[in-house]
Amino acid sequence: MNIILFGPPGAGKGTQAQSIVKKHNYFQLSTGNLLRDEVKSKSDLGTDIEKLISNGKFVSDEIVNTLLRQSLTNLKYRDRIIFDGYPRNVEQAANLDVILKEFKQTIGHIILLNVSRDTIEKRIMGRMTCEKCNMTLNEYFNKDQIELHPCGVEHLKKREDDNLDTVISRYDTYMLSTKPVLDFYSKNSNFTEIDGAGEIDQITNKINEILKV
Ligand code: ADP
Repeated sequence: MNIILFGPPGAGKGTQAQSIVKKHNYFQLSTGNLLRDEVKSKSDLGTDIEKLISNGKFVSDEIVNTLLRQSLTNLKYRDRIIFDGYPRNVEQAANLDVILKEFKQTIGHIILLNVSRDTIEKRIMGRMTCEKCNMTLNEYFNKDQIELHPCGVEHLKKREDDNLDTVISRYDTYMLSTKPVLDFYSKNSNFTEIDGAGEIDQITNKINEILKV
């Protein structure tokens, strides 16, 4: 079944998505990863995306929809997609609905990781992500794992937008644009809210319980 993981930036969506991917052979679909993978593939579309990003421009909904369609038609990922941080606004939610219907797929579970803004600040300020394997660690909480990271510590990078000012503005954008999507999804019977403030493993266990895997 397909899954949507929701929550403010820094809630731990990527971290939990990675654990589901590893254990249950899922495909983690975040728009950031989709775009980065397309750029890496050196396709024509990837070259266009690279130009847009390096000029500081937004990637259009049309491009994101094309990539979404590619993932949803890939039989390898059929009913094994975990949407991480998508959809972010009501338009994207409506789009996703149309694309899912087109390819006769559904969302089995919608899970919200709820975390306070204080906690988010601490998590984002220490976030490091491996550019090779996408693993997310935290320079304050995972010092040992960072030293021993199998891809090499030099591949663990901080995101340029992970600073206090942008954290606050991304949180505000989340409340303004993404919260309305949540208000809509939370009426569904397959919606579950989890307290995202606990330990990573505890949260993983709760998610596994919901997924019954
Ligand atoms: P999101 O994908 O929701 O933006 P991430 O998964 O990137 O969030 O997590 C943000 C930061 O918080 C990362 O540095 C990650 O290692 C750390 N983190 C994630 N979940 C937890 C948790 N339950 N407890 C402590 N730190 C966490």
